[in-house]
Amino acid sequence: MSKHIAILGSTGSIGTQTLEVVEANPEEFTVDVLTANNNVELLIEQAIKFKPDVVVIACEEKYLQISDALKDEPIKVYAGHDAIAQVVQMGAIDVVVTAMVGYSGLLPTINAIKARKNIALANKETLVVAGEIIQKLALEYGVSIYPVDSEHSAIFQCLMGEFDNPIEKIYLTASGGPFRGKDKKFLESVTSKQALKHPNWDMGAKITIDSASMMNKGFEAIEAKWLFDLRPDQVDVIVHHQSIVHSVVQFQDGSMKAQMGLPDMKLPIQFALTYPKRLKTDFARFNFMDYPELSFSAADSDNFRNLALAYEAMNKGGNLPCIINAANEIVVDAFLRDQVGFLQMSDIIESCMLKADFIKNPTYEDYVFTDTEARKLAQSML
Ligand code: MG
Repeated sequence: MSKHIAILGSTGSIGTQTLEVVEANPEEFTVDVLTANNNVELLIEQAIKFKPDVVVIACEEKYLQISDALKDEPIKVYAGHDAIAQVVQMGAIDVVVTAMVGYSGLLPTINAIKARKNIALANKETLVVAGEIIQKLALEYGVSIYPVDSEHSAIFQCLMGEFDNPIEKIYLTASGGPFRGKDKKFLESVTSKQALKHPNWDMGAKITIDSASMMNKGFEAIEAKWLFDLRPDQVDVIVHHQSIVHSVVQFQDGSMKAQMGLPDMKLPIQFALTYPKRLKTDFARFNFMDYPELSFSAADSDNFRNLALAYEAMNKGGNLPCIINAANEIVVDAFLRDQVGFLQMSDIIESCMLKADFIKNPTYEDYVFTDTEARKLAQSML
């Protein structure tokens, strides 16, 4: 039986790699829905190739361009964020791959869960912003959330056959990004161009900056807390710059399990779609002789303050992770346009955490309000 999938964010890094997985396994998957934010040319190309039932472009001005290009295809074309939030409910869909960037992933994910669709979760911001709501809904609607993030996929894989054994602790591995080992004096003057050069992973712009600033790892800690039902003190970060060990679980008897392999996002993407089955692939295999040494070191949250800020948000909870996410989206965008410096990003995020109203037990509406307010606040500090 072919699995029917919807890919939200099909033109991004995770989206295009998901389609590579589909292409390599045509008998396993049927693409029902493709959505993109802005990249209409690639979306048209993907639609012609994969023949989904529906495509949606978030940017409404591009509707005519895409509907015209696809007028001879049996494909329905919609535009706008509301349409994306609605198409995930389509009857035939088995699993929704949430690969869009940032806060915009929240509402479509909520709707997909309410329509009882399983989620292959690549949009970690959804869990950062509103992990409590998402986990409650998933439980209520009997939906599985399969992690796509490589670290969380690693933990998920280590837990297979262990679901009744409590986790003592997990270690999320971090490559340290392009600025590993650098001090504040160096970081003060780094440019977006330097930050966009990640040593091990080829990813979208936002997550590459988040990796360089360690915010990505902070978000992954929060993501792990919700995915695996952990306390903040059970989530640790260790720098491992070869990116071969993708993360580690430590059980109550002290035994540790790690998942290893060459860094290739197609593997966690594929596993999220085929769990518990492993499909044969032709991905490059790890060779021990190429890596005679694997190294590990402590994470540096003094120079990379985002990591400490994310842990603070995770510890205090409430709407604080939502505040940090909104402020981060604003400052990363500004950094990419050379409007703020690398270290200023953390300064602005920290100010937003102090100034935005704290809500201990936020509702969905509170998150929407918090997101808007925190964005305004961060914008005013640029
Ligand atoms: Mg990751």
